[in-house]
Amino acid sequence: MKKQLIDLSRSFGTDVALQTDNVFRKNKRLVVFDMDSTLIQQEVIDEIARHAGVMDKVSAITEAAMNGEIDFKESLRRRVALLQGTNVDVLRTVRDSLTFTEGARFLCRALKRLGFKLAVISGGFIPLANYVKAELGLDYAFANQLKVSSDGLFLTGETVGPIVDGLRKAELLEVIAQAEGVTLDQVIAVGDGANDLWMLGKAGLGIAFNAKPRVQEQAQTRINQKSLRYVLSLLGYSDEDMQQLHDHY
Ligand SMILES: [Mg+2]
Repeated sequence: MKKQLIDLSRSFGTDVALQTDNVFRKNKRLVVFDMDSTLIQQEVIDEIARHAGVMDKVSAITEAAMNGEIDFKESLRRRVALLQGTNVDVLRTVRDSLTFTEGARFLCRALKRLGFKLAVISGGFIPLANYVKAELGLDYAFANQLKVSSDGLFLTGETVGPIVDGLRKAELLEVIAQAEGVTLDQVIAVGDGANDLWMLGKAGLGIAFNAKPRVQEQAQTRINQKSLRYVLSLLGYSDEDMQQLHDHY
């Protein structure tokens, strides 16, 4: 039936979701977002690579990793190594060039107004995740940390601490749910890449947002519209509800 629904929604350019109608459908409390190609339009590592002059090499690896063709951890190590010697100022340049996905600001404001806790869990990098957190008024941000040379000027081509890969994303989702005292049934996860599948599977509602084909097939629900506002539709809010939330900015 799920496959039929996917085919049907594809042929009509619309989205169809099949959800269990239980008490938790309307009692979600926490929304966890992927960052790159979900809350923002870019893949931040590709943007850093663009400024470092290694865009082609890095973006090819990113593409393969997001499609789930290669292991994320290994892919990140290889990509970060290519950034060795890049000036740290590049992080500010990339930050200033980030484009938020249509509906991201509205969705986050609306969810905050409705009392949700919000988090970004990213396979990208912490300075950029912190920026997204501040701009969207999120409660938590987790991402990888780039190692910087002792004079503080250059990227060393390594990361510090545990790599935020797919499994780690799911673990962090669980940690935040525990901290907030909510069950996994009350958690929503939104993402687009193969490294989001664990997190989407762990949440009570996993949403593949304009996702890679493999992610669309495996996630519980899909949104293939430009705007993130339709996350609210999956929570049972009508267009009229959204208008009210919009008017109460
Ligand atoms: Mg992504």
